Amino acid sequence: MNSDDVQRPSTWVKFKKNLCEGCWSGCCTLPLEASAHDLIRLGLITEDEAASSLKKVARRLMKEGYIQAFQSKSQLFVIEQRNGRDCIFLGKDRRCTVYEKRPEVCRAFPKIGPRPGFCPGHLRSVGEKPQVRRISASSS
Ligand code: SF4
Ligand code: SF4
Repeated sequence: MNSDDVQRPSTWVKFKKNLCEGCWSGCCTLPLEASAHDLIRLGLITEDEAASSLKKVARRLMKEGYIQAFQSKSQLFVIEQRNGRDCIFLGKDRRCTVYEKRPEVCRAFPKIGPRPGFCPGHLRSVGEKPQVRRISASSS
């Protein structure tokens, strides 16, 4: 298995307890879609902003580098990725820096995701730099 396999859920491993221990957090390289409610919890927008024009909010967040896109049909924001790969909230130690405030999809993964019950697992160890690009996983 190589790092490119993170793009292919069919190669993922079955998730089990303690698998995250020491993992390089491949799941945090998947495109992350967040709702307005998620963004309020993250402190990126106010409730008033969420109640007004989300497109306007999206323009601001894009300018500030928090999101890369806004899907008006689903009203979901696609969180920006560092170097086209890591979630911007992933720390240098490859742990989530906003864990308590993380979006719902992060809380539900891998129960809900591109391949429920499976994840990229230990494709690489912490410290290595996998050349992984985005995968198409709108349901993650
Ligand atoms: S890729 Fe899997 S094992 Fe690694 S942190 Fe994410 S859920 Fe845990
Ligand atoms: S918010 Fe945290 S848990 Fe969710 S993808 Fe980003 S770094 Fe990972």
